[in-house]
Amino acid sequence: MPSLSLLRHTMTGLLCLLLFGCTLAEKQRNAADADPKACAENPLALQILGSGGPIADDHRAGASNLVWLDGKARLLVDAGAGSFVRYGEAGAQFADHDAILLTHFHGDHIGGLPSLLNAGSFAGRTEPLMLAGPQGSDVFPSPEELAEAAIGPNGMLRYLAPYLNGESDFPKLTPLAISTDTGSIQNVLDGDDLKVSAVRVHHLTVPALAYIIEAGGKTIVFAGDQSFLSEDFETAMRGLKPDLLVMHNAISMADGQPRGLHRDGRSMGEVAKLAGAQKLILTHHMQRALNDMDAIMAAIAENYDGPVEVADDLSCFAL
Ligand SMILES: [Zn+2]
Ligand SMILES: [Zn+2]
Repeated sequence: MPSLSLLRHTMTGLLCLLLFGCTLAEKQRNAADADPKACAENPLALQILGSGGPIADDHRAGASNLVWLDGKARLLVDAGAGSFVRYGEAGAQFADHDAILLTHFHGDHIGGLPSLLNAGSFAGRTEPLMLAGPQGSDVFPSPEELAEAAIGPNGMLRYLAPYLNGESDFPKLTPLAISTDTGSIQNVLDGDDLKVSAVRVHHLTVPALAYIIEAGGKTIVFAGDQSFLSEDFETAMRGLKPDLLVMHNAISMADGQPRGLHRDGRSMGEVAKLAGAQKLILTHHMQRALNDMDAIMAAIAENYDGPVEVADDLSCFAL
């Protein structure tokens, strides 16, 4: 039985489509009207927790996503600052996660992790929990070093150190470093009903990953922060036909944008086409990109003619 707020959202959305066409702002208001907890009612769904990037220039939380499967938030993908609030609004339960998957260790992707681990210490979870991310470098930590820095015996939140050995009723946090020395697709999690694999992406000098999620006969791809130089990702995407391809809308189409860090609209459209994406989701917005949406959409459409959705915090995409 859909909730009243969901019905209101649906009716508003229909009117918007039938009568006026929808501006970006209208779409965002409609998304905000929906009951964020209703996403869990779908057999399989992606929920964007945080749709923002590293600059605090609007209302968005930092990058973070949930994959809902049969009413449980099985995967948390990135945990940017502000995701703590959205996590509660979405109704996610720490006990339900198979893994926390981090694409890379820029602050807009991990800033909320200490708060979520703190909250998780109240959850009564006993099962170990995987914390996966790219291997370290001279500048960036490995997942193990990240955990040590946050909750190790000498870490910032050292009172949470029992996470690292599973003592004192804490679930054991098990860091998994995924190699970025190879361009191959790597298995991360191979469960009965949920499979996760990863492939490295180019994000300037930052060790960074994309994740491929398979569940219920569907595929969701989290491209993460990546530039047009992500050849291994493109090889992995070719002909994959993901049901949802989640990409980051971080730069405008203007000259002088940081194209060594992020793809522009044209580049996102090229990847969506070669992947055969059933739907392209844009998230990780930055104001410089949101101010240029007409040009970005036109550039995507040069190559990709499938549906494109602009996500807001708590947007839900059912599969
Ligand atoms: Zn980012
Ligand atoms: Zn980044």
